[in-house]
Amino acid sequence: MTTEITAATLREWALPEPSFDDDKEGRGHVLIVGGSREMPGAVILAATAALRAGAGKLTMATAATVAPLVATTIPEARVIGLAETNGGGFTVEAARRLGEQFGQSGGKISSLLVGPGMQDDAATAELVHALLPRFAGTPVILDAAAMGAVRAQGAPHLLEEPKDMEHFRFREAVLMTPHAGELAHLTRRDKEQICDAPLEAAQEAARRWNAIVALKGATTVIATPDGRQWQHQGGNVGLAISGSGDTLAGIIAGLVARGATLEQAAAWGVALHASAGEQLSIRYGVLGYLAREISAEIPALLRTLA
Ligand code: AMP
Ligand code: MG
Repeated sequence: MTTEITAATLREWALPEPSFDDDKEGRGHVLIVGGSREMPGAVILAATAALRAGAGKLTMATAATVAPLVATTIPEARVIGLAETNGGGFTVEAARRLGEQFGQSGGKISSLLVGPGMQDDAATAELVHALLPRFAGTPVILDAAAMGAVRAQGAPHLLEEPKDMEHFRFREAVLMTPHAGELAHLTRRDKEQICDAPLEAAQEAARRWNAIVALKGATTVIATPDGRQWQHQGGNVGLAISGSGDTLAGIIAGLVARGATLEQAAAWGVALHASAGEQLSIRYGVLGYLAREISAEIPALLRTLA
């Protein structure tokens, strides 16, 4: 059975609200790992979205060459510069460093988002494999290039049955946010196959990887490994723009930091993102609004939808 995500469903699935005397720790700490020299903006979009969704604290770990620029764009954030590979990715050393500073021993991260704007698929997959065990217990959102981790070989610590599984099974709570093209690439299928049967494709991927899968599009489908599924229809074609998915991933990371579960944050995030597109289309028209404008719509929408 597939549940339609509507205003009524969301209201029943209320987001955690802070009490009047909470401090910023109470609404969680988001760590976003991503960005590159060629795509420094993706982490900026995701970070803005996480803060607009109500997260209390934010740290971004991005390419050292662009870290100062990123830091001035989001003065609210702590920004860490990571050494880059030749391909514009991050070295595994970055995972060790982030793990020491923020991982289980540091223990202060409420949601971890990896992927926006990352380059160098091989290095990125390796980085994800090195990061996840260091952040065991932290809900993780994998977007864009970081999802390629499920196609990489090696890293037996992520496998429940390493010998006979073609793909990884995540041990920890993971949400993946592919669009149809990405899911097709990750599952080695045609995009048409995914688009013809999106619910089945998302469900199969969720079971196979033991991850919640939000398959994005004009209709977005969310599937869990235990077979539950939701779908959301809304927004408009103006949301099909560069940076749109980075913003969605950031909204979700922010909601998780506030205490929402990954599936709840995915449902809320998808609905908020789509509604923001509807608001922007009233102001600008369906085409021509910018991904960076989506986030500013979120606080008012949270007020009306919650
Ligand atoms: P990405 O491709 O990663 O940038 O993500 C694009 C975002 O825009 C996803 O959240 C999609 O659900 C949304 N989107 C893309 N095309 C449409 C459309 N035609 N109508 C509504 N939402 C869309
Ligand atoms: Mg994307």
